[in-house]
Amino acid sequence: METVRIGQSVSRDRMLSFVEQYWGFDRFRPLQEEAIRAVLSHQDSVVVLPTGGGKSLCYQVPPVLAERTDVVVSPLISLMKDQVDGLQACGYPAVALHTGMTSAERDEAGRGILAGKYRLVFVSPERILTPGFMNIIQQVDVRAFAIDEAHCISHWGHDFRPEYRRLATLKERFPSASVHAYTATATERVRGDIAEQLDLNDPEMLVGDFDRSNLVYRVIPRVDVHGQVADVIRRHEREGVIVYCLSRKDTESMAQALREAGIVAEPYHAGLDTEQRRRTQDAFAEESLDVVAATVAFGMGIDRSNVRCVVHATMPKSVEHYQQETGRAGRDGLEAECVLLYSAADVMRWESLVRRSTEESADPEELLKAAMHLLEQMRLFCTRVQCRHRALAEYFGQTYLTDNCAACDVCLDEVEGVEDATVTAQKIISCVARINRGSDFGFGVGHAVDVVTGANTEQIRRHSHDGLSTYGLLSDMPRKTVTNLVYQLIDLGLLERSADDRPVLGLNDSSWEVMRGNRQVKLFKPKAKPVAKTRAAIESWEGVDRSLFEHLRGVRLELARERGAPAFVIFSDATLRDMARERPTTLEVFRRVHGVGDAKLSRFGKRFVSEIKHYCDKDEGGR
Ligand code: ADP
Repeated sequence: METVRIGQSVSRDRMLSFVEQYWGFDRFRPLQEEAIRAVLSHQDSVVVLPTGGGKSLCYQVPPVLAERTDVVVSPLISLMKDQVDGLQACGYPAVALHTGMTSAERDEAGRGILAGKYRLVFVSPERILTPGFMNIIQQVDVRAFAIDEAHCISHWGHDFRPEYRRLATLKERFPSASVHAYTATATERVRGDIAEQLDLNDPEMLVGDFDRSNLVYRVIPRVDVHGQVADVIRRHEREGVIVYCLSRKDTESMAQALREAGIVAEPYHAGLDTEQRRRTQDAFAEESLDVVAATVAFGMGIDRSNVRCVVHATMPKSVEHYQQETGRAGRDGLEAECVLLYSAADVMRWESLVRRSTEESADPEELLKAAMHLLEQMRLFCTRVQCRHRALAEYFGQTYLTDNCAACDVCLDEVEGVEDATVTAQKIISCVARINRGSDFGFGVGHAVDVVTGANTEQIRRHSHDGLSTYGLLSDMPRKTVTNLVYQLIDLGLLERSADDRPVLGLNDSSWEVMRGNRQVKLFKPKAKPVAKTRAAIESWEGVDRSLFEHLRGVRLELARERGAPAFVIFSDATLRDMARERPTTLEVFRRVHGVGDAKLSRFGKRFVSEIKHYCDKDEGGR
């Protein structure tokens, strides 16, 4: 078969010449070449690469090399549009068919496909199996299908979409075509499920390295959510930041608090009207808006590659979610920061949410068990003082060889212990023991904190708790800090908290061990000292003229606005930094900048070169 020959015989140089021509990249990222060869030789495959790992290139290269039309199944219109915009800007013939188009537009696209005008056709899982679309792709004899975000097919993934299940019939309908699945979700269970559900034929499993070495992970005890988030964002002035919140209401109060702190921010959640959601998403994409406080609804559709920081104001409900959401930071490969503000209160909140949501399902017990397991793994990730990169790699079944990642709070030695933690724990535990004495019901976290910090509340007066010897023992600590310490004690199993509607605190055997001085306790608090820049962050800016970079960002924003396209479609941050490092003043030198291909050279070259020239002249003049 001719197609088999193509896959095996195409030289690496020939592949790279296409990559260089369209995208201006001079080498492959890990596993891209293998994944491309699998498509060229029609060997079914499952490609698992972390977000930002470069999955798209794996299905974009083969059809231009083989001069044919391949089909990409993609779950969201916004994703398809961004991809097609990006490809068109590179001079790559691609088209999408979706419900956002008029039927005349769709007809025209259909005619273009039949005429062999496009190398890639993007389509939703609902549309691909319609008779109209089937008819078209049968006529052009499509030989390879790419299934993007393939974990959507699995219950065990974190984003199950029933319509993906129907893709199982692709193999039946196109027996001679190969099917290639791409995902960033790496657990073995999901991987196996994808292969099975898609009915793949002995698929090649290409599983990349999951570690995102350009990301710095920090998990910080949450004591003052709005203040802490504002502090993190201030480290990222004029950079893209996503703040993930648990509920719709939380996103709105977060955006409001940030605005009050002088930070321009917008909320985003599924309850806002479509128009407002679109406006926020577009503004974030074109970079006229930098900070979005969002629920997980702000997800797959965002393709801004230069998000420099992802904050979790509350803990997500699984490590998979965490990996996916933090994965939106630094997709351009440049350094980015991920901060999770943790409190054991999050675990309790999730437990009750998960219970409620599984109650209505067909198999509540099974689902609840799976969800609780995922939640517990996430909690352990937050509470163990262990290298975060290592913990993530190991969670996804990979080994992590570096001893000190130099890119997480633990390895950067930022985790600060509370001085005299055991004594502090004894004060809190004995306070709980005292207030419980003589009470039939017990008291919740809030009241215990009030008593130990010496607050003056109606409830304290009513129960005469201001007369207890433990009243005000921690009055020198902020209330929010003490609240967080109480949750840490619950997390460590040193205090009990009942699981009913009105949870109350109680003691257990471990609490008594602490009280008797037989057990030492470690507690953590947010570090007061400013966070240092990591080596990667310093290196990636080396030689870059920052003010030229900012100027070029302005030019990019202008061009993005003119075109109504996301900024990254013009050039990535990595490319702009390279320009601001090399300062090319001729088109020839400009073409050598990382990320400049033929189409972008002819489309944007003159404009950028003239801006750089002008800037350099002014710079010289100013010296
Ligand atoms: P994924 O889909 O795996 O999250 P993408 O396909 O969106 O990742 O790629 C992430 C970024 O990396 C994009 O900006 C893309 O242009 C860039 N990229 C992909 N392959 C390469 C490469 N070989 N060299 C340099 N940059 C690349």
